[in-house]
Amino acid sequence: MAADTSPPRARTFPPRSRPWILTYHSVSDPTDDPYGITVSADRLDEQLTWLRRRGLTGVGIAALLRARAAGRRGLVGLTFDDGYADFLDEALPVLLAHGCTATVFVLPGRPGGSNSWDPLGPRRPLLTEEGIRTVAAAGMEVGSHGMLHRDLTALSDDELRHETHASRDALHRIVRQAPSGFCYPYGTADRRVAASVRDAGYAYGCALVPGALTGPLALPRTHVSHADRGARLRAKEVRHRLRYRSAGTGEAG
Ligand SMILES: [Zn+2]
Repeated sequence: MAADTSPPRARTFPPRSRPWILTYHSVSDPTDDPYGITVSADRLDEQLTWLRRRGLTGVGIAALLRARAAGRRGLVGLTFDDGYADFLDEALPVLLAHGCTATVFVLPGRPGGSNSWDPLGPRRPLLTEEGIRTVAAAGMEVGSHGMLHRDLTALSDDELRHETHASRDALHRIVRQAPSGFCYPYGTADRRVAASVRDAGYAYGCALVPGALTGPLALPRTHVSHADRGARLRAKEVRHRLRYRSAGTGEAG
């Protein structure tokens, strides 16, 4: 059954808090990893165990926002960027074992391709269209990472529209449900980019450090690496709560 990715109802967050959302990429052997974007399946298991001991359950972002709108706490958002094929064999079994869901941000313009935008490599295969459908069928949320993994802030208006609108249409065709979430490649967005994401029909947008943008179209996230274990995770959680404790209302512009 596909994840319920209907748009979250709330457009604002309670004051003094913003949801804590973790950012993963590849789940595989982390030894050749110049960008620090790989976590082993064992380490992911350890990190989810740590969260659970702290009373936190990982969920996809649409579910996270719906739960917060309903006043529910005790959740942390889990996101996997780029749509690496290893999600199915490495991450998914661990997530399911912990009773977690996640949002996987995929690139419908590169089905079955690789991360050729990373000049240092190593090359990692991306999910095929069938793989994207399998992710959705496993109960995970599928979101858009744009078509081709381009820096949206540097694109013309027409190119930007293609990355936001066409990727939503493509994912609608692939999983038969329009995605409610968008993740900005490289974590960067500005007002023009956020407006394009909103106009395409997405209910939320994930950044890394959203800068001056606020609201559901500029959700901040915490990058998680293979080195992150209890003390480091705790430090990242505290940093998130301090940084975003009073910036929780308002719309992205
Ligand atoms: Zn990415």
